[in-house]
Order: sequence, then structure tokens, then C-alpha cells
Amino acid sequence: MTTNAELQKLRESAVPRGVSNMLPVFTERASNAELWDVEGKRYVDFAAGIAVLNTGHVHPRVRKAVERQLQLFTHTCFQVTQYEVYVRLADRINRLAPGSTPKKTIFLSTGAEAVENAIKIARAHTRRSAVISFGGGFHGRTLLAMGLTGKVVPYKVGFGPFPAEIYHAPFPIAYHGIGVAESLAALDELFHSDVEPSRVAAIIIEPVQGEGGFYVAPFEFLRSLRSICDQHGIVFVADEIQTGFARTGRMFAIEHAGVEPDLMTLAKSIAGGFPLSAVCGKAAIMDVPAPGGLGGTYAGSPIACAAGLAALDVIEEERLCERANRIGELMRAKLVDMRDRNRLRCIGEIRGLGAMLAIELVQDGDASRPDPDLTKALVQAAARRGLIILSCGVRGNVIRFLVPLTASDALVNEGLGILEQALLEVALR
Ligand code: PMP
Repeated sequence: MTTNAELQKLRESAVPRGVSNMLPVFTERASNAELWDVEGKRYVDFAAGIAVLNTGHVHPRVRKAVERQLQLFTHTCFQVTQYEVYVRLADRINRLAPGSTPKKTIFLSTGAEAVENAIKIARAHTRRSAVISFGGGFHGRTLLAMGLTGKVVPYKVGFGPFPAEIYHAPFPIAYHGIGVAESLAALDELFHSDVEPSRVAAIIIEPVQGEGGFYVAPFEFLRSLRSICDQHGIVFVADEIQTGFARTGRMFAIEHAGVEPDLMTLAKSIAGGFPLSAVCGKAAIMDVPAPGGLGGTYAGSPIACAAGLAALDVIEEERLCERANRIGELMRAKLVDMRDRNRLRCIGEIRGLGAMLAIELVQDGDASRPDPDLTKALVQAAARRGLIILSCGVRGNVIRFLVPLTASDALVNEGLGILEQALLEVALR
């Protein structure tokens, strides 16, 4: 048997440290919401490969679709000879996208690539250059996406200069004293102090911030942004890469606000664990770039598109939106009980939407005193006991829960039980 320690040694000599690893654990196999490492240790998986596995690890339906596609062909490049699974998946996503305006969809490979393409499309459509994103937002690691990202450590340190014409506005976070009115006032200030709205091509926002700390954008804020975009001819881009595909209890999180975005960026749970991303948007905007302006060699891989069709079947047939709400209620109630019963003042806030839930860890119940050390210790303590959880937050003090929506109540409860033990171990040190 090759041990985790042996592989870790090889990893350290073969792979740069810039790719950080949360755990010194090497996966051997995984199924639904469970994972086993190379030493046979079992974990309950509340990370889902960072929100990629809403349909669980290797869902049998996804596996079957991929196996079938493997028998046929694996690659032609959609720009060379086309294939059915690409256009079928595009058509299906167009019909699922919020709002009644006709939609079109292009496929890419990664989330960052979807974001880059959304901005290209918005710029081509508006013939404007500026883009506004939000503090704490995360949009990817490529140059433009990194520029849009509103979190310096670790994503931006040492990688400048950043692309021009990117402006950040504060994201409304009630827990940290930034209300909707303050956030809108800051945006108005930006329009007066930095960039006139007639030069802004797009505003990009995550309906629930992911890496930034699982802060839910108030629905009225999203509606206000929609009307600001309408007023000034700005393209509204909803980054649904982490929030999409049933995670928040709706197919796309923006639906909660009743807003029709002009463009949506999609990735992660779009294809049940295969690398696929997309930009879906209003057809009139999507059709502006000229032939050849968009695409990519691997963009919309037939294997990933086949997986995407199967993942959508699973989301619909297993009613994963309803399931997300049920898991969210169950987890929220247990987290509240865990905090109250143990008088855990380190849990400053329990929040989220559907099954996109998080706890913010602070010192002595004080929102202004983040506790990243406790957060790091909790991730490790949970893993030692067999639970994989992820941290996030601009200050690294949030634990997020992204359990596959196909997990049973029993497995969710088992994971929460481990979490409580780990919390007691680290909080009462
Ligand atoms: N946008 C959001 C909201 C994300 O959560 C992520 C990934 N965490 C990205 C963009 C970038 O996706 P990728 O890592 O696939 O490039």
C-alpha cells in the first residue's frame, strides 16, 4: 500500500506549493457523499469538491452517460465537427434559465473561463470597457477573473498589475454592518468618483458569495442592481458558478430574488464532476461576438456535456431543489442546537440559502474579531475524525457546508455529529 505520507513527500518534490492542499490526504475512491483515502480511512464529504458534486461522487447515471460517450468518441473540438450532446445541453440550460427572454449558451471548461467570456460578451455588446464587481467576491484565477476577485490573500498577492477598468463596490453584509442602503450609496459614489455608468459594460455578482464567506445578497439588493443596470444599459452578470444547479433550493440562486440576469456564468455542479462551464444569457447579447471570437479547443467536451445532461436528469428526477431545502432546514436546526446547547460563543453567525450553509467563527461572540486559527484547527480536527469541511471568508474564519444533495439524512446527521465533536475539541481548548 502507498501511504498518504509517501504520496505527500512525492507531491512536495513534484508540485509547486502555490497549489495549496487543505489536507495531507490522497483519495482512492469516492461514492455519493463518502470518500476513502489510500489507507482505507473513510470520510463523510461535506465539501463535494468545492460545490462540484451536488449530484454526489460518481452518480450511477452520470457514470453510465460518460461510459456510453467514451464508447463513441471523446473529442472532436466543437468548432471542427459538432456533436449532439453540446446542443442538447445548451438547449436544456436555456430553458431552465430564469426569465422569459430567449437564451443561448456557450460551453467552456472552467469557471474562470466562463467569467472571462461573460465579460468579453458584455464588452462586445455594450462597446464599453469598465466592469464592476464586489469586495469579497471570487471569480477565478486567470488574469481578468483574478482582477475581478475581491479577496487579496491568497489570490492576488504578487500577481499584479491587474487588468485596467475593474472597480470594486462593497457587498452588503448585515452581520458586518454594511446594509443594502450603504452598499447602493457606495456604488453611486463609485459612479461619481471613479467611472461614469455609461462607460460600464457589466456588473458581476455572486447571488451568494462563495469563497468570500457565504454571505447571501439581500434579494432587494439584487433587484436594485437589476434596475441600475436597466437604467444605464449595463449587462447584469450573475456568477452562479458556486450557487447553481439546485444548491440553494432553486436551480439558480438569482431566482430567489425574481431577477432575470442578462448573463449567467455556470460551472462546478453543471456536470456531476466533469470539467465543464458555461455562459448562458439573453440571445441578443450572446450573439454579438462575431464567429471565431468565442470558443476553445476543449470547450464543451463531449464527455462533460454527456455528464451534464445526466446530472440535469438526476437534479430533476431526484428533486434536488426540494432536497436542498430539506437538507438546509435540517442542518440549520442542528447547528443552532449545537451552538445553544454547548453555549458556543465562537459561532458568531449561522447563515445561508438552501443547502449552501456556513458558520462564521469569531472570538467571544464578537463579529469584529474573526477567528481564522480556530477555523483552521476545526478543519483539521474534523478530518481526523472523518469529516471533510471547507473554510472560506475574506478573513478565513468561515466554515462552509456543501454536502452533496444526494446524501441521506443519516449521512448528514453523521457528519454533523462529527462536526460537534470536533468543535468541542477545538473550541474548549
Ligand atoms: N466564480 C465563482 C463564484 C467560484 O466559486 C469559482 C470557483 N471557486 C470560480 C468563479 C472559478 O471557477 P474555476 O476554479 O473553475 O476557474
